[in-house]
Amino acid sequence: MNTLLEIEDLHVAYGLGSKRRSVLDGVSLTVDEGETVGVIGESGCGKSTLAKTIVGLAKIGGGSVCYRGTDVRTLSGPSLKEYGRRVQMVFQNSLASLNPRKTVFQTLETPLIVHGERDRRSRRRRIEDIADRVGLPNAMLQRRPHELSGGQRQRVGIGRALILNPQLVICDEPVSALDVSIQAQILNLLSDLRREQGLSYLFISHDLGVVRFIADRIFVIFAGRIIETADYQDLWRDPRHPYTRLLLAASLGESTPDRPGSPPPPSTGCRFRHRCPFAFGLCAEETPVLRDIGGGHRTACHLG
Ligand code: SF4
Ligand code: MG
Repeated sequence: MNTLLEIEDLHVAYGLGSKRRSVLDGVSLTVDEGETVGVIGESGCGKSTLAKTIVGLAKIGGGSVCYRGTDVRTLSGPSLKEYGRRVQMVFQNSLASLNPRKTVFQTLETPLIVHGERDRRSRRRRIEDIADRVGLPNAMLQRRPHELSGGQRQRVGIGRALILNPQLVICDEPVSALDVSIQAQILNLLSDLRREQGLSYLFISHDLGVVRFIADRIFVIFAGRIIETADYQDLWRDPRHPYTRLLLAASLGESTPDRPGSPPPPSTGCRFRHRCPFAFGLCAEETPVLRDIGGGHRTACHLG
């Protein structure tokens, strides 16, 4: 299978001088053609920054992001525009990410205009076609975002991302603002579109239950580092890292991850150790690295 996206030892930091804060600390992952890769972690772990870095909205501090073997930092002019067409993003907050003054038709038309589709009739055809595929009746094309439900707005966001026929769609918490019943509809829609169009997704969420539904492989991020990765079945059946187990319990409604008041992650040793019920001496001294425990299942914990 061809690798579409390859992220290697990615470092991203925000702020300057003493305020500088590392957000991603050596993240590596790949997305193959036709594959859906899930990234999970709690808010603030760096997963949205990962998404932004891929689409050029956050600055790469170190390491690399390659698309079809080309480092995205070397792209410019037409090749950068082509990358912008091939890699699209669906955002969490559809209300904030849609222009309130634009109708659905105008929102879907903008990318076509930006990417040089001059023919009005052809634009209309493509807009009606995409609206149909994402389940928006034609009557809605003249509405504005505030006249739509949350689920309908998210369909517009997905339509806007897909209208240029991308290969990779970065979905950052695309269903977390929606009611559970609407979540299922949108996840089904994303799955159908993936099958019909051979898309790849990088699907970001705080909810392992949601990611499990759609992802082939899953990466778990804690405090800017990948702490476990496996295919979705292995991760669901046999989560190894204590943090992954916590996320699993949370998605089953058995517990909530202990966050409020928890101390910031330490910079040396295991970053999870202040919240880990199994922490022992070595955890403060040595940073655990990802180790393969078989079948591509890798975990970064001294207990294996
Ligand atoms: Fe817990 Fe230590 Fe494993 Fe970190 S390395 S998850 S602190 S047992
Ligand atoms: Mg986020």
